[in-house]
Amino acid sequence: MSAPPEVTHGFGVFPHRGLTLVRGRACTVWDDQAYLDAGGASYATMNVGHGHPRVMDAIRQASEGLTHASQAFGQPARSQLVEALLDLAGPWAHRVFLSNSGTEAVECAIKTAMHATGRSELVAFEGGFHGRTLGALAATHAPRYRAPFQARLGETRFAPYGEVQALTERLDEQVAAVLIEPVQGEGGARRPPQGFLAEVVERAHEVGALVVVDEVQTGLGRCGEPLAIHGEGVQPDLVCLAKSLAAGLPLGATVAHERLEGLARGLHGTTFGGNPVACQAALAVLDVLDAEGLADRARTHGEQLVQGLEALGHDLLRDVRGQGLLVAADLGVRATPVLQALQARGVLALPAGQGTLRFLPPLVIQEDEVARLIQETGAALDQVAQRYARGVSA
Ligand code: PLP
Repeated sequence: MSAPPEVTHGFGVFPHRGLTLVRGRACTVWDDQAYLDAGGASYATMNVGHGHPRVMDAIRQASEGLTHASQAFGQPARSQLVEALLDLAGPWAHRVFLSNSGTEAVECAIKTAMHATGRSELVAFEGGFHGRTLGALAATHAPRYRAPFQARLGETRFAPYGEVQALTERLDEQVAAVLIEPVQGEGGARRPPQGFLAEVVERAHEVGALVVVDEVQTGLGRCGEPLAIHGEGVQPDLVCLAKSLAAGLPLGATVAHERLEGLARGLHGTTFGGNPVACQAALAVLDVLDAEGLADRARTHGEQLVQGLEALGHDLLRDVRGQGLLVAADLGVRATPVLQALQARGVLALPAGQGTLRFLPPLVIQEDEVARLIQETGAALDQVAQRYARGVSA
């Protein structure tokens, strides 16, 4: 199949998977045939599922009203969403900045932390991912994203994820913020030891640094709680949300603790952020997450997925792990041929680095769909193993 113009005339930054998608419902997306979206199409943005009727109605109605109004004006959906996000985050939360994406939510958090502390250094974690704009990229660990831009990024102090002593050694009165994912997404569904997040908050506060929890991937039910911090009993200074917040429409949110002043007028801003249609969609998403108990479903179906993958006992599977429906499996081979075999079998998953498969299906996934995902993964692994056995480079 020839690549579409957005690929041939694009900047070359996306791999092309050879499909042109035109429709989605729940966990299924279509080009001219149906695919089970295990995250490969939606990249963790579709916790409520593709085309959820409640969300589609909200988008339709909102788009007939007002498609844009600057945040210099009041707007009912935006006001309701700010209240709803404060409720979701917890009693510590007092301010919300609405933007368009995960990386913007992180930028706002970094600027707020620098402004509040008058400091400029960042501490982040090995394996962490926080976005691709220059501020967020400074806290993203993988050299493949950072290296060409290093000269503009400054030196972030990276600590091994989950090691309190190493973190403490990197903290001092120069540090504005520690950035952390409660579970590393791009890093391959890695969880720190129990209690690590609380230690991060305590140690950072001892030196007057703030803690930015990046829930762009882990939030909104994905990890079995409305936010992953809810399972940890911590009160961070800033929390970043995006991805699933508006079911695929661009929306990011930075939620700040009541002790933070925010930023002075003009120090930050956005033209499109907090768009009325995206806000109305997000209100519907929050309703659906609650009404359909999707965080609980993420927990039970995530366990089913992890146990099922482990039960395959496949030679190519090295380690299966996850929290809720953020699940990853290390492979004994490169992930790409396994992803290709899965796609040929009608399943879209995604990698986390070179040798790890990642599954981020909509949280509305059904038990039989999880069973199919496990079975097709086993079959794709068999196919790749046979190719290796025949000496064909996979
Ligand atoms: N933070 C985390 C944890 C992410 O997983 C991502 C994207 O994958 C981002 C930030 C950046 O989000 P966006 O691609 O919307 O800028």
